[in-house]
Amino acid sequence: MITRFAPSPTGPLHLGHAFSALCAFDMVQAAGGTFLLRIEDIDQSRAKPEWEQQIYDDLAWLGLSWPLPVLRQSDNLATYKDGLNRLADLGLLYPCSCTRQDIKQAASAPQEGAPMFGPDGLIYPGTCRGREFSERKENDALRLDMTKTVTFLEQGELVYYETGGGTRQEIRLDTARLPETVGDIVLARRDMGTSYHLSVVLDDAAQEITHVVRGADLAEATQIHVLLQHLLGLPTPEYHHHRLIRDDAGKRLAKRDDARAIAKYRAEGATPADIRTMVGL
Ligand code: GLU
Repeated sequence: MITRFAPSPTGPLHLGHAFSALCAFDMVQAAGGTFLLRIEDIDQSRAKPEWEQQIYDDLAWLGLSWPLPVLRQSDNLATYKDGLNRLADLGLLYPCSCTRQDIKQAASAPQEGAPMFGPDGLIYPGTCRGREFSERKENDALRLDMTKTVTFLEQGELVYYETGGGTRQEIRLDTARLPETVGDIVLARRDMGTSYHLSVVLDDAAQEITHVVRGADLAEATQIHVLLQHLLGLPTPEYHHHRLIRDDAGKRLAKRDDARAIAKYRAEGATPADIRTMVGL
């Protein structure tokens, strides 16, 4: 078993991160496998070296350990470019120049009906679909043409296993519905040569992750990951989406919730055992 914890160094780790990292670590300890740490810093406008250092400090303080070197996504951009090129060679990508505002406007046009939301937010209304990959301009994003993709796959169902509910559950994805429920997702953002979905799938495969342990907020994105694994000929790990740690008002913790930062509890004298108790472990 190989698991990983894959935080983005864009703010302090909070109790939700501690829970996620501990779940992955405990699972692998029980099975005698390996726990890996990966730094997901493709968004260079938000990632900061001081947050990365804080991640190492907080996790070590919690009692976790991992082999070195740590994979940092910003060092791995060539791998993502290669993955994109493979999808482009299959004829599945097209360039897109739409801004968020353009998409909002097009999606709310009266003839479109009620705007639809997928795992990535508003479903792309298809304004740039049909543009040639070779026409990509410097500031264009790259989108996956989902209708073409589903036809290309020829597989009506994709299967993966989810253990987050306590039992091992087989999940069958009906690919025919993906154009409607997921749509043409961005695989390379305009400001970076990749996207969360593409890099996470390529890295999980490169690091031979057998069990992805992460928060339930990413459960919906898993269908995109399984789809990309099939397109790129990569294995599908098992997924374990765990409950989310919430604040007193029931809201899921976010990076801006400094009040729940592990560093703050540390500074106040909490022990790693206290953190485990706080998150219900
Ligand atoms: N980097 C993502 C985050 O911090 C986690 C990605 C994943 O576990 O798949 O939310």
